[in-house]
Amino acid sequence: MGHISANVHDDIKKVLITEEQIAKRCDELGAEISADYAGKELVVIFVLKGASIFFADLIRRINVPMQVDSIAAASYGNTTKSSGTVRIDKDIETAIEGRHVMLVEDIIDTGLTLSYLKSYFERQKPASLKVAALLDKPGARKVDLVPDYNGFTIGNEFVVGYGLDYAQHFRNLPYIAIPKDYVWNDEEKE
Ligand code: 5GP
Repeated sequence: MGHISANVHDDIKKVLITEEQIAKRCDELGAEISADYAGKELVVIFVLKGASIFFADLIRRINVPMQVDSIAAASYGNTTKSSGTVRIDKDIETAIEGRHVMLVEDIIDTGLTLSYLKSYFERQKPASLKVAALLDKPGARKVDLVPDYNGFTIGNEFVVGYGLDYAQHFRNLPYIAIPKDYVWNDEEKE
């Protein structure tokens, strides 16, 4: 990772999705999910670490009873390219057989991570399994996969913020953004 500033906001080239837009979309998704699962109970599983902030905002807008859990899956190292392999570093602790499960992911790029996780959970025989993703990059898809609930559709650019990182940085940005070019390389700060 290239040079970073003392203030994370100074390393941002462009804000793609504002804090207000995200909050509004979370309101809408929360209402939609609450209506769809009315009378049911949910197990909501979020994918560490990227989906943590979206998950926290989303579940507070869902009014049906739920249990929560998390899973850590890695398909990316400190680079911006998918390796195509998925490794589970931390599993869920909840028995999901016969339960309505919703998987919360930060972003669907090639779709490889999510399709792996979906079949991993399907084998545990949930009553239903749906996916909520904050961001969808359909242009990069390698497997046929569409999120049941989608926050925003974006192009093929690499984004950070609101839980999403570049080399473990920028997760704390309250918006979704594109970093300045020097962040990607080891050149001196402009
Ligand atoms: P996929 O398996 O769909 O190619 O990749 C999904 C994972 O790659 C996401 O959970 C996320 O960790 C990472 N990823 C894909 N695109 C981006 C991006 O634009 N920004 C960040 N920060 N991570 C991404």
